[in-house]
Order: sequence, then C-alpha cells, then structure tokens
Amino acid sequence: TAPLDRDVVVVGAGPAGLMAARTLAAAGRSVVVLEARDRVGGRTWSDVVDGAFLEIGGQWVSPDQTELLGLVDELGLSTFPRYREGRSVYRTPEGEVVQYDGLELPVGERTAAEMRRLTALLDDLAAEIGCHEPWAHPRATELDRISFHHWLREVSADEQACDNIGLFIAGGMLTKPAHAFSALQAVLMAASAGSFSNLLDDAFILDRRVVGGMQSVSETMADRLDVRLATPVRTIRTTADGVVVESDHVTVTARHVVVAVPPNLYSRISYDPPLPRRQHQMHQHLSLGLVIKVHAVYTTPFWRDAGLSGTCFGATALVQEVYDNTNHGDDRGTLVGFVSDEKADRLLELDPADRRAEVLASIADYLGPQALEPLVYHESDWASEEWTRGAYAASFDLGGLSRYGKDQTAPVGRIHWASSDTAAEGYQHVDGALRRGRAVAEEIAASA
Ligand code: FAD
Repeated sequence: TAPLDRDVVVVGAGPAGLMAARTLAAAGRSVVVLEARDRVGGRTWSDVVDGAFLEIGGQWVSPDQTELLGLVDELGLSTFPRYREGRSVYRTPEGEVVQYDGLELPVGERTAAEMRRLTALLDDLAAEIGCHEPWAHPRATELDRISFHHWLREVSADEQACDNIGLFIAGGMLTKPAHAFSALQAVLMAASAGSFSNLLDDAFILDRRVVGGMQSVSETMADRLDVRLATPVRTIRTTADGVVVESDHVTVTARHVVVAVPPNLYSRISYDPPLPRRQHQMHQHLSLGLVIKVHAVYTTPFWRDAGLSGTCFGATALVQEVYDNTNHGDDRGTLVGFVSDEKADRLLELDPADRRAEVLASIADYLGPQALEPLVYHESDWASEEWTRGAYAASFDLGGLSRYGKDQTAPVGRIHWASSDTAAEGYQHVDGALRRGRAVAEEIAASA
C-alpha cells in the first residue's frame, strides 16, 4: 500500500501518545497513531475476567493529578471514591496482625517517632530538590550514588522504620528492591507526587477511580483520532525534511514522530541513522520494575461488616498492600493486592495453584479466612507482555538519574519522546503520561 503522509506520526496508543495526538490534532495538525497491540490504553487495561470487571493496569487518581482530572471532565467521564471507611490492618515483622485507625502504622513508640522523623526528612528533600530537574541540584550526585536502602540505614538505626518507609517507594512505587535504585530516584518519586507524606496517605494517592475504567480515558480519546491497531513500528528513518516510520502494515512519512512507548522498549525500534551514542547509553540505564497486581472478587465485601476498610499493610508479608477495589455500583466485594520485586520472583516460580494458595493465605492473614474463597481470582502479568515487559514504570539504576536525567526528554532531531516514565509531576502515573504527551505536542507545535 502507498505510504501515508501526515504532519505527525505517534508510536504507541497509551495515554501519552493519545494525548500528544489529541493536542496536535486540536492545533490543526494531521496525525496518525500506530499501536502494536490490538487495543489502546497501554498500561491501562480495564477488562471483564470470569464475569468480573477488573482494572488490570493503572487505575487510581489523586487530587493533584489535575491533567488527568481535567481530561476526565473534558471527555464526559466521571470518577468515584475508593471505599475507605473503618479500621486498617497492619502485619508486624513478627507476623502479628493489628487493627488500627488513621494513617500512622501501629508500631512501637520509638519506631513511630523514627518513621515521623524519616518522613519529615524525605518531605524536606522532596521540597528542596523538586521533580523538574533533580539532577541539577547540588546534592544530586551525593544522593544518586547511594541506594535508597543504604541511605535509610545511614540516617536511621531502626530497621522496622527503614523497612516500612522504604516500602512506600520501593515495593510500593518503583517496584524494585530499595537496594536497586538511588536515594535521588526515591526523592524524585516523592516530589513527583507532591511530597513523601502524600505517598504514605492512601486517602490521597489512591483517592478515586474512573467510572467505567481507566482504559476508557484512552478509548474515548482514540475514538476521535486515526489510530491503527496491531501495527507495531519497527524502524524510524530520518530524512532531509522529515521521518519515514515503518510498521508491519503501513509506512508513514511525516514531519515529526512521537515515540510514546516505555523507555525499556526504545531499542526494540531500529533507527536510521542510529540514535546518538548518549541515547544508546542512557536507554540501557532505564528499566521497568516488577509487580503482580492480584484481584479477588467475593460475594460481598465481607471485611466491611467487620468494621474494616480493606486497607492492609505489611512490609514483610507476601502481599505487601491490600485495598478495597470494589467496582462502582457492584454488590460484590473486590480486593486488590500487590506482590513486588523479589517476592514476585519467588511467587512466579510456583505453579498457578500454589501461587493462588499463597496469595490468598497472605490476604487471609490480614482479613480472615473468608478471603480464602473468592468467586474470581486474577493475577496481572505485565512482565510477560511483549509491548510492556514489567510494571508499573521505568526508573534509573544507581547513578543514572544524575548522569542522564537532563537528556531523557530531549528530542533527537524530529524524534520526540513521551511517556509517564520521564514525567516530572505524575511520574510513573497516567497523569504524568498525559503531561508528557501535551509537552511533546507543544514542543512540535513550536518547531518548524
Ligand atoms: P503505555 O501505557 O505503556 O503506552 C505505550 C503504548 O505503546 C502501549 O500501548 C504499547 O503497546 C505501545 N507500543 C510499544 N511499543 C510499540 C511499537 N514498537 N510500535 C507501536 N506501539 C508500541 N498509574 C496511575 O496513575 N494510577 C495507578 O493506579 C496505576 N497503577 C498501575 C498498575 C499497573 C499494574 C500498571 C502496569 C501500571 C499502573 N500505573 C498506574 C501506571 C500507568 O498505567 C502508566 O504510567 C501509564 O499507562 C503510562 O502511559 P504511557 O502512554 O506513557 O505508556
């Protein structure tokens, strides 16, 4: 077939690519979006599994995520709050299960004080360093050469406090062990969410969900755009006056290309001429974490009858966090849990029946034996997906953020980069993906 000719071609129909396309189309540019999968939405995916509607990928919205909240409004969609009435449950490192009210974990007084001190320290660092150019701060090199694990133990001798605080960024956000990324990367994560305290506050960070599913944000954007599904892009050639983008089904000539795929997949595309050496190097320092998102659907939300919110936390438990994830208008009760990094490695070595038994036993540890008998059980498996390969998003290895951060969003000629993985506000989140999509559209609009 004859090549298509457009002002801009976008690679990837996740929230970042679709936002870039939408913004450029609104500015009068002709745009086509080429998507490898047979669906849009990327790491957001709302699906019905054994009769239960599940958010397999990204789902929660926090009040500071104004780009996403604004778009939800614009698209005529709406949000609903997460159920969070009642007491939460904490599992101590010794395996004791304790119910508690409020945000502060029921740890001993000394550990509680230490957690408050570490939280204040991280809040101060996040406020001082910020999310826009953490690599440019005078303390960037110092904080980027030490792992978050070791930094915590340098500033505190309380192992339980270090473990609990560490988990909110390690297992909870970057989904890598705290020894695998730097203190600077941890500060960026906190700053991108407004503060470290916000990451501790599930009422803030996990505030609302989109009615009809987060994927519907992408689907509604895509309805008004020219999106070609099942069309993986293989090669990007730069010519004298533009780009030629070759996919399995169509070739597009354009003035600009937006690569809106996670950075760990940049090198799945061939570039002619090759990218500059600095990009080749930088891209090898950005990798996705690993987390298994588990859903269990029950006849009723039984924990509510026991005065529990469904929120559970245990840094040393297999399922490190659990939340009520019941759907809008659903009589059944749904729990969601997360198993991260090295715990996920171990779990994934088991056969499916043993995995399920271990996960449900871990949830039952918090919420009682009724948790052992769900109507529907589902584990997300993003690391097996050809066009993602991990979850939730990408982060640098030790030293990478201070070394390469300033270049991660710089265009290479007519090739522009957009994804949640390189966002400032909303880093790793749908909101950040949308912000990067808009920023790249503005970058293109401002260029010739
Ligand atoms: P993606 O969504 O990854 O989109 C990239 C697209 O590019 C994909 O559709 C992919 O198929 C396509 N692609 C890749 N390579 C090619 C190629 N060569 N040619 C063509 N197309 C290609 N965020 C939140 O805000 N709240 C949450 O609660 C939350 N929870 C999460 C839970 C899980 C399990 C996961 C996986 C993610 C979660 N996230 C959450 C993160 C959020 O989903 C991502 O940050 C967001 O989807 C990233 O958007 P993106 O457009 O940058 O990338």
